[in-house]
Amino acid sequence: MSIEEYRLKNKRIRDPMSILIDGKKTAQDIKNEIAARVAEIKQAGGKQPHLAAILVGEDGASQTYVGAKVKACEEVGFTSTLVRLAAEVSEEELLQTVEDINQNLDIDGLIVQLPLPAHISVDKVTNRIRPEKDVDGFTPANVGRLTLNWPAYVSATPYGIVELLKRYQIETSGKHCVVIGRSHIVGSPMSILMARNGYPGNATVTLTHSKTKDLATICRMADVLIVAIGKPEFVTADMVKPGAVVIDVGIHRIVDETKKTGFRLIGDVKYDEVAPIASAITPVPGGVGPMTIAALLYNTLQSAEKKVFG
Ligand code: NAP
Repeated sequence: MSIEEYRLKNKRIRDPMSILIDGKKTAQDIKNEIAARVAEIKQAGGKQPHLAAILVGEDGASQTYVGAKVKACEEVGFTSTLVRLAAEVSEEELLQTVEDINQNLDIDGLIVQLPLPAHISVDKVTNRIRPEKDVDGFTPANVGRLTLNWPAYVSATPYGIVELLKRYQIETSGKHCVVIGRSHIVGSPMSILMARNGYPGNATVTLTHSKTKDLATICRMADVLIVAIGKPEFVTADMVKPGAVVIDVGIHRIVDETKKTGFRLIGDVKYDEVAPIASAITPVPGGVGPMTIAALLYNTLQSAEKKVFG
């Protein structure tokens, strides 16, 4: 069915465009709020929140991500420590580095940038991080707490999405939410958050993955469609119910000679054809991406203020 046919059939479609969920602006608002809180803490003689990051190897994308996190720390007045280790570092040495940071009383939050080299077990390293400092929300303790709806550090990307839904006052109670992708860092926690008893939440959730049959039909039943499949422009207009809220988690670099950088970013959703039929949508770039760092900073502030584990 063409977009025009969708439009004619469904009166709920906003014309001419859906609401743009502006992650860039929302992330900046959150950073401003965090910076204001840090200023208050300092004024009262308290310690600046401190985030440590461990970066193993020279992977270009990882260096960019860690660099952005360190820069964001500066922006909001946090202290940051970046520990760089060679790609050949032994698992034991990495575990010891994690342990040293666990013991360091000045450090509130620790992240280990993924991916790690193949000779290192991500599970072992993650499990070594003290849950109280696990501001990425990847440890079994935090995932378990999230599942039980206890206070927990929630993985930054899903947490950023929850914050967008909240700040844009998107109704989720009683809605059908379809999540595409079941990764530990995005899809899985997202499905738990949308199903839990709270706001945002109370949705009826369908979690889909590569073995799901007839994905397009399931997607068309979604009032809220959250896409974390990792495939460029996978979701097309014919997979979206008119009036649905669409959250695009994907980030892909594609060659574009017209840009100074030689590339541009696109998401997992074919934005140009989906935006006109959605009631609200996140763009790429400027949607979920900036929220991920803001959420990480927020988790670190929570840790500094002992708000999650007490
Ligand atoms: P991932 O670990 O690769 O997981 C992809 C998921 O999609 C898997 O669960 C996989 O199913 C499922 N899948 C693959 N093909 C499918 C198909 N044909 N139909 C249905 N499901 C299918 O990816 P991720 O780490 O969650 O990331 C997803 C995307 O988000 C990537 O583009 C990534 O770059 C981006 N991302 C962005 C941010 C941000 O800050 N904006 C943060 C994290 C990730 P199986 O489990 O069955 O294999």
